[in-house]
Amino acid sequence: MATHSDGILVSASGISTPVGANGYHAAEKVVKSLPADFYTGFLSDAAKERKPSPIRGLFPLENKPGVISLLAGKPNDAMFPFKSLSFNIASPTDPSQEQSISLSGKDLSAGLQYGPTGGLPRLLKWFIGLQGLSHGRKSGEGWSLSIGNGSQDSIYKAVNALVNPGDAVLVESPVYAGVIPMFKTLHCEQIEVETDADGVCSHLLRNILENWPVGKPKPKVLYTVPYGCNPTGMTATLERRKEVLQLAREHNFLILEDDPYFYLYFGKAARPLSYFQLELDEPEVGRVIRFDSFSKILSAGMRIGFASGPKPIIDAMDLHTGTANLQASSLIQAITLALVEEWGYNNFFAHTRAVADFYREKRDVFESALNAHLGGLAEWSTPEAGMFFWFKLLLLSPHQTPTGSADEGDSEDLIRTKAYEGGVLALPGTVFLPNGRKTAFVRASFSLCTEEQVNEALKRLRAVLLKERGQ
Ligand code: PMP
Repeated sequence: MATHSDGILVSASGISTPVGANGYHAAEKVVKSLPADFYTGFLSDAAKERKPSPIRGLFPLENKPGVISLLAGKPNDAMFPFKSLSFNIASPTDPSQEQSISLSGKDLSAGLQYGPTGGLPRLLKWFIGLQGLSHGRKSGEGWSLSIGNGSQDSIYKAVNALVNPGDAVLVESPVYAGVIPMFKTLHCEQIEVETDADGVCSHLLRNILENWPVGKPKPKVLYTVPYGCNPTGMTATLERRKEVLQLAREHNFLILEDDPYFYLYFGKAARPLSYFQLELDEPEVGRVIRFDSFSKILSAGMRIGFASGPKPIIDAMDLHTGTANLQASSLIQAITLALVEEWGYNNFFAHTRAVADFYREKRDVFESALNAHLGGLAEWSTPEAGMFFWFKLLLLSPHQTPTGSADEGDSEDLIRTKAYEGGVLALPGTVFLPNGRKTAFVRASFSLCTEEQVNEALKRLRAVLLKERGQ
């Protein structure tokens, strides 16, 4: 056995006894899960109304040996033109070398055919093993996993499975702009819980919940991005996470842990544990629905993400999939499976470490340029994961600032119009505020630009900002 740098024991065969970074063997701990009927009060009316497809629900019966199936409307793959598929990947041990992977026979057939709603069984198994290694979660403990078309698809289905039109929901603020319309179209009241460089401000969350109007139904969910948040770049501290989990227990809500940047953590300190892992320390587990994405580590275009959480909720999401899009692409799942099986967990983690190192360097380049061009003109916290800087523009020069004014201004016009005219495109912070609040913050992505481009972009932004400040 080798100790993985994430604090995980990995045997030569792959999965072994996972050891969480908090030091205990998940396998030795008796995990008590919330009972299945606990979720009845959480499922939305739409989720309760959905019934299994009369055909898809019978698919597993086809696997019984000796059964002749006349069931599914599956096309005959003899008439599909694809005979084999091969692709090259960078060798995990020497990225300058390429390695070929090919897909044929049964594996290719599975990729070309309709497949199970929640995902190809071998890929599901691999992901479940990954959750063991990354989060100390073992299968068979009341949780399950389902594959989506990227994590966005899974988040949308989870929201739909839990939230009724008009419900109040808790969202960290600023919040990932991609969830705002999900809640808006359900006419939800989006209760913003402010975040700072340490994550969700748990004292503010407590304040909201303890002062909740009597008779008004309490929110059932809190949405948060705990590592390298989009847009703020913040990674929540362990203390904050623990406090949020405690509040979830005290005030009976579920945590939607949207975590596409987990493997892009490059902070100096050990990576704080995920909510999905931390809840193992709770008296009963089952309050966290976790969303993983392969978009930032394999390919965004493949659209591979997966949700892990209490079985009744994952089942409700699968019922949605059964009517919305039947399943995530079998072929993309088959390609992903061929790749991760070729790699094994050790090479997968070697790859994600390389990805994190890459983004750390990008972060450093961006921060040097920020210091060089916007030092004294903007404020920010250094991100320890992900691909975003969130910085506050000091829009007013000292002689323009009215005494005692707390108004920091609004970056909207400067970023959307003046900066763009000046040749730089970024996002004004208002995009991430669901209730129309103004902000002087800006989100800048550091994933794609070269050092030269970053310096030029921030130099242009400086010029626009100085003009705005009358300097
Ligand atoms: N959540 C967050 C916080 C994101 O930043 C993104 C990607 N921009 C997503 C979800 C969607 O990711 P995916 O490509 O897996 O659908």
